[in-house]
Amino acid sequence: MIGRILIVDDTAANVRVLTKILQAELFVVDTASSGEEALYRIVVDPPDLVLMDVMMPGIDGYETCRRIKANPRTRRIPVIMVTALSETENRIRGLEAGADDFLGKPINRQAALMRIKHLLRAAQTDVLRRHDPDGAIDPTDESPMGGRILICAGSPDHETNLLRHLACDAHVASPAAQADVAIVDIGSEGSSPADGLRTAAALRTSSDTRDLPIVALLPPLRSDRESRALLERVLDLGVADYLHAPLDPVELRARLRSALRRRRAARRALEVRSAAAALATTDALTGLPNRRAAERRLEELAKDALRTGVTHGLLVLDVDHFKAINDTHGHDGGDEVLRTIGARLSRALRLSDLLARWGGEEFVVAVRAPAGSNGLLAIANRLRRAMTETPVTLASGVQTTVTISVGAALLPPGRLVCDAYRAADAALYVAKAAGRNQARISETDQ
Ligand code: GH3
Ligand code: MG
Ligand code: MG
Repeated sequence: MIGRILIVDDTAANVRVLTKILQAELFVVDTASSGEEALYRIVVDPPDLVLMDVMMPGIDGYETCRRIKANPRTRRIPVIMVTALSETENRIRGLEAGADDFLGKPINRQAALMRIKHLLRAAQTDVLRRHDPDGAIDPTDESPMGGRILICAGSPDHETNLLRHLACDAHVASPAAQADVAIVDIGSEGSSPADGLRTAAALRTSSDTRDLPIVALLPPLRSDRESRALLERVLDLGVADYLHAPLDPVELRARLRSALRRRRAARRALEVRSAAAALATTDALTGLPNRRAAERRLEELAKDALRTGVTHGLLVLDVDHFKAINDTHGHDGGDEVLRTIGARLSRALRLSDLLARWGGEEFVVAVRAPAGSNGLLAIANRLRRAMTETPVTLASGVQTTVTISVGAALLPPGRLVCDAYRAADAALYVAKAAGRNQARISETDQ
């Protein structure tokens, strides 16, 4: 995952700590030392995400966040408030100002990176971003109260506890299809996470609940491999948000409220932009743009290339031996694999990149200014590794390693999209013939 992150903080030491953490992960870092400067920078060179300190001279972090979210042009940029851990009240204030998440000080490196990556990825498949590109809908207008919550707790005791935490906010939904948001316990009480993972996967698979935002309750945050792997799996399932034990009821309510609010805004966006139009450009299985939408975007990119002189890169990705995956795990298993591929690819890309499902088991990616053939090939290989590094775990618990082959071509100013696509497709064929699980650049771009 790469992206440009704007750190807003008036304390140089804080900026240094965050910059170091982010740069180690290859994020591009911008800084602003006041709210005013942040507002200026965001318009001049929009970042993919903002990390916002609260206490600053001049306008404070809340007000800066409120202004970012009040401007249709900037409100889709995710904002994370960085607040002192003890101040629960501040977090609520941050969410009310429209912040998308909050991080406690002192910064925990692993927790911060996971939150940042999660938000970047969520923004990528954000319904609001897709169906309300002009930012006409303001999520903070939505009432965060009175939603129906589906509780999937690990035990009756845990359920009683959760109900007590939530009582004043919402009532519990049944059946699941009528819920506005779901809480799924995934091992937060010391039990095995397997049941919760199955529940979450089932919610994501059923057509009734596919869009239901899930807030996952996870075991305490640790920095070991197992803990990271679990969080990766939970994120692969496309949860809306997550909390680690020990459970903080105030934080749980805040995160639920913000999930509810986003859900309402997304619904409204869909209503506004007629459901039919939305469906026509969205792939129902992965939630990614479909071929039609991608073709339109690519034509825009080609036009943009002519105007600005910027070269784009085009990648055609095809799952290797996908027929065998279907044969072994059934068509539903194949569908799960496709959804996971979509989620992983989007996590490995920048927000501004195009990722679409072209059809069947083929995906298309377009990236801006990839630094020549070598740069483009490096991106192709990064995407390829995003699949091979971790096996895909199906809802049944079965693991399967999925590989993809990638064909790449440059889209310099003046080159037709259909020519670039053909060149990338020919390169894909070469990658397949060479044994699959490889990336190749088109002959004309070598
Ligand atoms: P190769 O490595 O050469 O790409 O082999 P492959 O098996 O991946 O390619 P092939 O084109 O022979 O098979 C693609 C399969 O993808 C056949 C088709 O049934 C399946 N498929 C296409 N769309 C979907 C879908 O939406 N869901 C599932 N589960 N399968 C799909
Ligand atoms: Mg294939
Ligand atoms: Mg194919």
